[in-house]
Amino acid sequence: MKGILIIPVGKVDKDIMGILSDALSKAFHQKVRTGEEMPLLPQSYNARRRQYHATAILMALRGEKRRERELILGLTGVDLYVPELNFVFGEADVLSGTTIISLARLRQEFYGLPPDRRLFHERAVKEGIHEIGHACGLDHCSSPDCIMYFSNSIRDTDRKGPGFCGTCRETLGI
Ligand SMILES: [Zn+2]
Ligand SMILES: [Zn+2]
Repeated sequence: MKGILIIPVGKVDKDIMGILSDALSKAFHQKVRTGEEMPLLPQSYNARRRQYHATAILMALRGEKRRERELILGLTGVDLYVPELNFVFGEADVLSGTTIISLARLRQEFYGLPPDRRLFHERAVKEGIHEIGHACGLDHCSSPDCIMYFSNSIRDTDRKGPGFCGTCRETLGI
């Protein structure tokens, strides 16, 4: 890997961009830069589901790739889906090193609860590291504390730790 590029897809808070940038650079020991905002394409919107197709956004993000071996993390405020699931927190295209996460379900407000900025940031960092972990070739991990554990619900995200387990760490070589 040669650095990570964070790209906002649609309007995204500057705060969260900075927080993710710091967290990713610490977790992977890489340089992280942020790119220009990419618009949310109307053709990736599914009006019936009221969600955006994660894979369609990933394809568009892939076109932003300028540097060989640089990984991309797209960041969006809208809710994402893939056809076989109700929603996804994020998705990764391992071959091109392109990933995306959605912030929509990471806010307490989504679940009818009072806002909690610290928790929101913690969740975004976990999901961002998880997707970049996939882009580095990691599969889902069976250890429930490992960041590569699959999040079926926000409870899984909250329960798992902020880092990689020993096995995943070894695979990554960090
Ligand atoms: Zn995953
Ligand atoms: Zn693991």
